[in-house]
Amino acid sequence: MTFKCETCGEVDMILVDGYAVGDRLLEGVMFKVTHDDEGEVVVNVTEESAHYFNGLNEKKWLKEMKDYVDDGMDVCAECSQCGQQLLLNTMDEREPPIRLPLTSVEGLMTEDDIINPRDQQPL
Ligand SMILES: [Zn+2]
Repeated sequence: MTFKCETCGEVDMILVDGYAVGDRLLEGVMFKVTHDDEGEVVVNVTEESAHYFNGLNEKKWLKEMKDYVDDGMDVCAECSQCGQQLLLNTMDEREPPIRLPLTSVEGLMTEDDIINPRDQQPL
């Protein structure tokens, strides 16, 4: 799996600003985002950012960033090759959520779920 950059085309790696998950604590601290062989999102700190994590829980932040990219609606990233901003929209690759019209909910219930007004005890 690759990411799409308007300038470079398909790129293997993008950079995401830590501000997205750590607010000002990680502002300007870049994370490298790639995919493994199975297409899973893999997050690592960049060599330049590694020292920021000396006093921080690196594992926690890597996981937060992975979750953020995984859930990705409009993840703001930049291309690792040209530095251009790009918007990740990982949601596009997934199946759209199934929306059921309200009127069909009854049809999904078993008979036991449907309260028969005649069975209710009078107050
Ligand atoms: Zn690029």
